[in-house]
Amino acid sequence: MTSAVQIAKEVRSGGRSAVDVVTEALDRAAASQARTNAFVTISSERALVAARRIDDVVRSGREPGPLAGVPVAIKDNICTRGLRTTAGSAILRDFVPPYDATVVARLEAAGAIVLGKTNLDEFGMGSSSERSASGPVRHPLDPGRVTGGSSGGSAAAVADGVVPLALGSDTGGSVRQPAAFCGVVGCKPTYGLLSRYGLIAYASSLDQIGVLSRDVEDARLALAVMSGRDPLDATSVDAAVAPERALATSDAPLAGVRIGVVRELMGEGVAPGVRSALTALRARLEGLGAAVVEVSVPSVRLAVATYYVIATAEASSNLARYDAMLYGARVAVAGDDQERSMRRSRAAGLGREVQRRILMGTFVLSAGSFDAYYRRALQVRRLVADDVAAALAGVDALLTPTAPTVSWPLGARLDDPLAMYLGDVTTCIANLAGAPAVSVPAGIAEDDLPCGAQFVGAPFDEGRLLSIAAVAARS
Ligand code: GLN
Repeated sequence: MTSAVQIAKEVRSGGRSAVDVVTEALDRAAASQARTNAFVTISSERALVAARRIDDVVRSGREPGPLAGVPVAIKDNICTRGLRTTAGSAILRDFVPPYDATVVARLEAAGAIVLGKTNLDEFGMGSSSERSASGPVRHPLDPGRVTGGSSGGSAAAVADGVVPLALGSDTGGSVRQPAAFCGVVGCKPTYGLLSRYGLIAYASSLDQIGVLSRDVEDARLALAVMSGRDPLDATSVDAAVAPERALATSDAPLAGVRIGVVRELMGEGVAPGVRSALTALRARLEGLGAAVVEVSVPSVRLAVATYYVIATAEASSNLARYDAMLYGARVAVAGDDQERSMRRSRAAGLGREVQRRILMGTFVLSAGSFDAYYRRALQVRRLVADDVAAALAGVDALLTPTAPTVSWPLGARLDDPLAMYLGDVTTCIANLAGAPAVSVPAGIAEDDLPCGAQFVGAPFDEGRLLSIAAVAARS
């Protein structure tokens, strides 16, 4: 698979037409879809129209943008104007957004071409991409396994070579964990680097849009194109992504770089194959000149519980808008009054996991529980953020496994939500802290399946973080 940087170069120089690039990508998408179910919608017409426009721009000598002709896949909880956006939910099965998410508008303005909308766990709630109204996503390397989630469709589309770049959303790990399971790169930037305008909200204080790619430099380019303050999202910040950092020397590219292995995330609960892949990576990083030390994030043990209190609380509030009156597919039978119709529509339109989370969130926000759970969780969140900042004080990046295990068989964890939730321990600390984190492939760990290594950096330090990750990915 050619990288996004390379495709754009060829299209910009006129060496290859965007129509050609897109036609080939559409063929690959159709073939992959039959095996992986990575897409909810493949937008062939829209993609070809956009490709012709790019080719016209190139022919006329105008500037087609840094991502000219690059086919991209967009997670189906990110709004695309005129293109159905379901969030993997039956309640949004007919939703055609009248506007583009800011990230989509900026990608298209840079010349990228939306090839389709990718499958996901409903509203981003899950770690396996099995809980979608469009059916489960299957792992490109083993159709009997999960891709991870919730951005499993985006991970599968990149891993299967359909597109070099895809967008996902990451509330507690949903870009990085499927990237790790599928053997690709996944980057969740700092909270506020990318506008969330047009992202269908799950837990707004944790949600960030992120990028999946094969190549770290493709992720950097995509982030650079999408970043910058957006008046439509008050939490977006005017920050930029620094360009690739020149290497110290070619045989010791990490000279002067300090990396902190998080002690609490290398022990119990991490599969042996994942641990040995990380240990081998650590040795390679040292061989490339990095100083690798051990650091501690003591509040890690509280992170998953804290995450699930905050995420479900915010979800219960965000999902209240799907009342089937103003918003969401309505199910009504003769004689229903408004309340009965609302209940019927929400019961039919929202899946079991989403309902479970709305119930949990409503509970932790209720008058009798607010102080004991929600307020306490906000306090612990601060503790986690402080611990992450303290651990980062003496190093350039933290290193952890992206996930404690490799992909598991389809269905294996569907009846055990706690097992599914606990797998987020490695990733959710970055969301709680608002810090940027990137997962790079760390080799085959177990069952012939890949695992990922996660690097966590200081807020708005994506430039340096990606430079370290790029060296690790090549090591
Ligand atoms: N697995 C986590 C959850 O279910 C993370 C999901 C996400 O990042 N969107 O909440």
